[in-house]
Amino acid sequence: MKFGGTSVADLERIRHVAELVSQEAAKGNEVAVVVSAMSGQTNRLVGYVDALSADSDIGGSIDDEYDAIVASGEQVTSGLLAIALRRRGVKARSWQGWQIPLQTDGAHASARIKDIETLAFNQSLKDGIVGVVAGFQGISPEGRVSTLGRGGSDTSAVALAVALKADRCDIYTDVDGVYTTDPRIVSDARRLKRIAFEEMLELASQGAKVLQTRSVELAMNNNLPIRVLTSFAKPGVPNPGTLVCAEDENMEERVVSGVAYSRDEAQISLLKLRDVPGIVANICATMSQANVIVDMIVQGTSRKEDQANIVFTVGRRDVEKAVAALEAAQEKIGFGSILVNDKVSKVSIVGIGMRSHTGVAHTMFEALADRGINIEVIATSEIKISVLIDTEYTELAVRALHSAFELEVES
Ligand code: ASP
Ligand code: MG
Repeated sequence: MKFGGTSVADLERIRHVAELVSQEAAKGNEVAVVVSAMSGQTNRLVGYVDALSADSDIGGSIDDEYDAIVASGEQVTSGLLAIALRRRGVKARSWQGWQIPLQTDGAHASARIKDIETLAFNQSLKDGIVGVVAGFQGISPEGRVSTLGRGGSDTSAVALAVALKADRCDIYTDVDGVYTTDPRIVSDARRLKRIAFEEMLELASQGAKVLQTRSVELAMNNNLPIRVLTSFAKPGVPNPGTLVCAEDENMEERVVSGVAYSRDEAQISLLKLRDVPGIVANICATMSQANVIVDMIVQGTSRKEDQANIVFTVGRRDVEKAVAALEAAQEKIGFGSILVNDKVSKVSIVGIGMRSHTGVAHTMFEALADRGINIEVIATSEIKISVLIDTEYTELAVRALHSAFELEVES
């Protein structure tokens, strides 16, 4: 069972979580719990770090200490929940990442899990003690506290569930499941009963914020079902949530499962490029050296025969870094000028049914055209079509696509 920040936001919520955990244990289950920091805490801690590090550049990287600080939010909730459980008569103890240990690589602030040693932890579960694990954190090869990147406690939970060979990982949050799109934009968005791993992975990486992308990837690779449900359900009201699992035939009948959007996009155009082999490789090398992830890429020819234009997108917060790196490599790459547009959004439709249905692209582009929405860039995969549009039309596009594919109707 994993509980996010809003589910452990205050002592009242923590007492309620203790009740949910004790119900699960009372069914005879061995329960491992992973908790996030109380909502707002991580941001507050990050704020302290940012304020101090803005003083100067002297002393180099501070990422190791960033981790030591921001990991503390989860330490607090793990201890509080363990107390709340004991006060209900449930045996429980807290576990920090280093105590398990949950080993990561040394990439502080965005570390990857290498290994989880489950011997002691498992023994403790077998002894009837509920284990309450601080999410988001682990221990680096140097023995330092590390963290898994924002939203990382989802990944902690799935990784622990995989290591323990759990039957399922239940992720409790403040929404009652995965929706066809953001219900704040489309009021008749629907909760999905089930969704395939691949679809969830695309939705998460295209901007749906329910689960950290890496947690879905990990669940998919290990075929570990995730259930997304709310910790705010009223007593007695059914709370089935959404099951994220391997695809089955019924799922294929649905052409599109969801519409995702992301406003955190920026479009970079390189004009008057030399049109010779190796140019795109050079651009991508420059971006990866600057640690910038490139998403959509389009190359077009320009009116002059030996010149091309390239348009690609990066995360909005990476724009300055990207442009600085490109300018520094202008000579090497060989382009005329750079244009930046950071008022763009990416809107995507996702569904495994696209593999076996035709006309999906047509329906999508027609729905956008009918609303007069201009498309800047298109990218597709087997189960996804994304378009880059003016940010101003984000909501309109999401609504248009949701109704064009009749996602409000139960299928
Ligand atoms: N507390 C961390 C964050 O806010 C990790 C998590 O909640 O998943 O990013
Ligand atoms: Mg989260």
